[in-house]
Amino acid sequence: MILSGRDYLESIRDGRTIYVGGEQIKDATTHPAFRGAAQTFAAIYDLKASPELRDEMTFEEGGERFSMHYLQPRTQEDLRRRHRAHRRITDFTLGLMGRTPDTVASSITGMTLAREVFERPGGYADNLENIYRHMRRNDVFCTYAIVPPQGARSKEFYNNKVRQPALQVTAEDDRGVTLNGMKMLATSAAYAHEVLIGNVMPLDAARRKEAITCVIPLNLPGLSLWARRPFNRSGEAEFDAPLTARYDESDCMLVFKDVHVPWEKVIVHDDAELSRNIYHHTPAHVIANHQCMVRFSTKMRTFLGMANLITRATGAHEIPAVREVLGRLAAAEAGFSAMVAGQIENYEKVGDSGVMYGRRELYGAIHWAMEQHSAIIDTLRELMGGGHFQFPADIGILQNEELAETFQELWASGAISAVDRMRVFKFAWDLIGSDLASRATSYEKFFVGPAFAVRNYNFIYTPWDRFSSSIEDAMARYDAPMPLGIAAQ
Ligand SMILES: Cc1cc2nc3c(=O)[nH]c(=O)nc-3n(C[C@H](O)[C@H](O)[C@H](O)COP(=O)(O)OP(=O)(O)OC[C@H]3O[C@@H](n4cnc5c(N)ncnc54)[C@H](O)[C@@H]3O)c2cc1C
Repeated sequence: MILSGRDYLESIRDGRTIYVGGEQIKDATTHPAFRGAAQTFAAIYDLKASPELRDEMTFEEGGERFSMHYLQPRTQEDLRRRHRAHRRITDFTLGLMGRTPDTVASSITGMTLAREVFERPGGYADNLENIYRHMRRNDVFCTYAIVPPQGARSKEFYNNKVRQPALQVTAEDDRGVTLNGMKMLATSAAYAHEVLIGNVMPLDAARRKEAITCVIPLNLPGLSLWARRPFNRSGEAEFDAPLTARYDESDCMLVFKDVHVPWEKVIVHDDAELSRNIYHHTPAHVIANHQCMVRFSTKMRTFLGMANLITRATGAHEIPAVREVLGRLAAAEAGFSAMVAGQIENYEKVGDSGVMYGRRELYGAIHWAMEQHSAIIDTLRELMGGGHFQFPADIGILQNEELAETFQELWASGAISAVDRMRVFKFAWDLIGSDLASRATSYEKFFVGPAFAVRNYNFIYTPWDRFSSSIEDAMARYDAPMPLGIAAQ
């Protein structure tokens, strides 16, 4: 099934519990601080459902149609098809939404390509298969919370001196498990249908009750979503905060109080090692993070477009030193695009019949994005000068005839009207300076885990011996005659 935007909005009015500070939100699709992003997710569903994009955004299997992010890749062309569908969604959202319906769906799809990983006492391979089929049949938007809360690291918690806050199984019965505790940090939880709960970081064997990995609806009794401050709480006009109005996807801590999860929704239980392996011994991490890198590559293009508009609005576009800065940004974007394309070019086989994106290019790209994002933002900030701060507080200025006349006269520049210039700077500020932009800077540093973990993936997947052996071969040939072909040149 392919959900329409309208059906999607209806389906997330499911009675879930969302707290914003002390306020409980009844319906995220109509609440002023949440409805903008809800509309954007609905528009993504409509995009997927549009007849013109049918072959690009969906695939057919057994007489049914499913969203492309549920396609199990068997060939390089399948990887390309998945890539094109991700690109269509990231282009639509300018690369500014991290957790769209195609992210975690890709993770679950990746897990199904290595079912054997789950075939041991703590794994539930059949449940995984059924969950995958349920998700694609119902076009489910799933997010994840796969990190323990920071507070769970203190020695007092380990020594059981105070209550352990990390989510764990506190009881089991014939029907399932009971969960208590907290999980960090589900982006888009206010808008998704379901959430994957698990552990992407290594878990000590002694903490096996925390190993619980399951995919559950966000409206289960006892589960509450504690949202960070929404950025459009004051309901600013779209002109004044265009990205905040549409793309604030929310981040929620998930609090479990005696939440009962049926066995059918469990994919790992009581196996600390497996709870992490399912991301790295299957293509789950790779296939999901390819989507993230397509998104970042689209975001790089948004940055380039903005740099162009800003410098035209400041009048500095043709200054040689400024062109040099733009050229440097353009080179970075082209290089990053190539890293993403390389993930398809150097694809890898999975088992007998699956494929996934090339890991060296993937983890190299993730690391590059994580390290360079802040510097790129800073470059844009520098290009913008004090531009944003010279404009009136909001576009309400036009309601006052006298002020509007002065504004239109003095803030225009050459052929660009005052309002058009203000539109560019408001957009630019929301991209690089607002609360939403600042949150994105943290997101780009941490969404895939901490930097030391990403460097570790890069270390692990590098063929060090192959690279060293060409040096060793060269050293071994020091006193040998040059091979004929080379000596003749
Ligand atoms: C905006 C945002 C959205 C997020 N969305 C999601 C989501 O949807 N789902 C989800 O599961 N998670 C999400 N996360 C959480 C994310 O996965 C974690 O923030 C990330 O794994 C880092 O963990 P941490 O925040 O506990 O930081 P820590 O692990 O506490 O790291 C913080 C810093 O401490 C230092 N440090 C800590 N340990 C070490 C070490 N061993 N070696 C060296 N330095 C160390 C480093 O400087 C590191 O940067 C999100 C985070 C953010 C900021």
